[in-house]
Amino acid sequence: MTKKQPVFDYLNCVSCGICAQACPVSVLAMKREGKSGKYRNVFPEPEGAGCLGCGQCAKACPMDAIVMEEASGQMRVKILPPHGSDRSALDERSWAELPEGSTVRDVLKLVRCSPVKAKLLLVSVNGERSPLDRELHDGDVVGFFFPVSGG
Ligand code: SF4
Ligand code: SF4
Repeated sequence: MTKKQPVFDYLNCVSCGICAQACPVSVLAMKREGKSGKYRNVFPEPEGAGCLGCGQCAKACPMDAIVMEEASGQMRVKILPPHGSDRSALDERSWAELPEGSTVRDVLKLVRCSPVKAKLLLVSVNGERSPLDRELHDGDVVGFFFPVSGG
């Protein structure tokens, strides 16, 4: 049977956090978006590759804001791209779909980062320093930053 994954409709989400509480393996985290302190700016996000596809989050959501969809060889990754990147492949909350087995290098291609710039960047995957050939998994958060020069 094909594994399913939750897909969130953030326009209907009321930030109640019930889905995160319902998840039996605690892979949903309520994350604050932007700098506003408003509670409405907090949304559920899958973290890491531990989702069982059980659908408990979708059943628990009072707003029907979660739909279980077949995973179908694609994964969703949150990308915090380097400054000046092409964001056209990212949704409004910086998530993008990539084929399973994609690496950090594929993410840089997706946001059209030049190879010269790519060599200068440091990479973080789920907060951990990572090489460009690291294989990514559904729910991973990939960030890029330039090393801070001393002095
Ligand atoms: S499908 Fe199940 S395991 Fe996956 S996020 Fe929802 S409740 Fe958690
Ligand atoms: S249960 Fe539904 S409405 Fe509540 S935070 Fe989760 S997705 Fe949003």
